[in-house]
Amino acid sequence: MNNNEQLLMKNKIFDELLKTKSAAKTSNDNQIKIRCKFCGDSRNQDHSHMYVGVMNTQQFMIGYHCKKCQSSGVVSKDFLEMYDIKNVELNVFLKKNRISTIIKKNINSNTLVNNYNIPDEILQEDKFKIDYLSSRFNRKITKDDLKQYKIVLNLNQFLKFNNINLYRDTNTNKMELKTLVEEYTKTCVGFLSFDNNIIQFRNINSNVIRYKYSNLQINKDFKNPLLYVVKKNIDLISRKPKIIIAEGIFDIIGVKERFCLDDDVDSVLCSPCGKSFKVALNQIIKMTGFVDSDVFLYVDKDTNRDIDKGFFNNHMSQFIPNFNITIVYNDKGKDFGEMSEEIDIKTYKL
Ligand SMILES: [Zn+2]
Repeated sequence: MNNNEQLLMKNKIFDELLKTKSAAKTSNDNQIKIRCKFCGDSRNQDHSHMYVGVMNTQQFMIGYHCKKCQSSGVVSKDFLEMYDIKNVELNVFLKKNRISTIIKKNINSNTLVNNYNIPDEILQEDKFKIDYLSSRFNRKITKDDLKQYKIVLNLNQFLKFNNINLYRDTNTNKMELKTLVEEYTKTCVGFLSFDNNIIQFRNINSNVIRYKYSNLQINKDFKNPLLYVVKKNIDLISRKPKIIIAEGIFDIIGVKERFCLDDDVDSVLCSPCGKSFKVALNQIIKMTGFVDSDVFLYVDKDTNRDIDKGFFNNHMSQFIPNFNITIVYNDKGKDFGEMSEEIDIKTYKL
């Protein structure tokens, strides 16, 4: 789909909507206003408060927003039907414009993404890592799981498989980097970030690497934030979009395995890998256009601060007016990252 086709379709959608009662052009070519079908709009039948326009997202999308009742979303077949617009061509376009996965979309958008894949083979030396993961997941981990969750079982194997030369343009001492790569390969399992550019390693049995988690960046030119996104189908014109963010990668996998149905296409699941929830939410909105979603933050119960409402009210303040944000924590344990652990869900709203 090229820009011309998008422009043509945008104009066709506008033309159809402009035929409805009290619809009007605005001073902005990319925006019109119509009467809102959700709240019935003003009593004065000549006024209209529902703005329909091209959204400020990487993916081309036409959104709506009522200034009166705050209803908002992405224009879809259902939306057009509310205005008695039954145009097959527009419906086909709107469906085609819906891209099934974030991953696919990123490749077509401005976000830089590496085209790397997870190797098929499980090496003998990595059997203990499979055992480790199987115990965390509380089930036998398969090759399919490695691909689904973008798990780098063996760093050396991954680098060779994808022809990555880490040593080409690095400021780090080459010997040091080589030692580090060997150590990650021998003792850690990694998870690939959404842009396939940062691997977050979980230390299983290294004494050399002091940290439990450490990150390896592949391409130094990328400026994307560290963000892990669970690979799944997402309906970008969902009427009930959900953004689910958990503190760590094992937590978000735990949330997916426990609570997410296989055919769920309404939710995006991600983790900022211990970093900022705010940055993660911003990046997801940028990629999906989910400006009207319910947001769930699965937080750790490490310290009192972690589940403190004041802290999250402050941290998420820019989103609170427009998003329905729920904090979720496990009252029985620290988090959601251990599938064998019992959980007792507690929630509160911001
Ligand atoms: Zn309204």
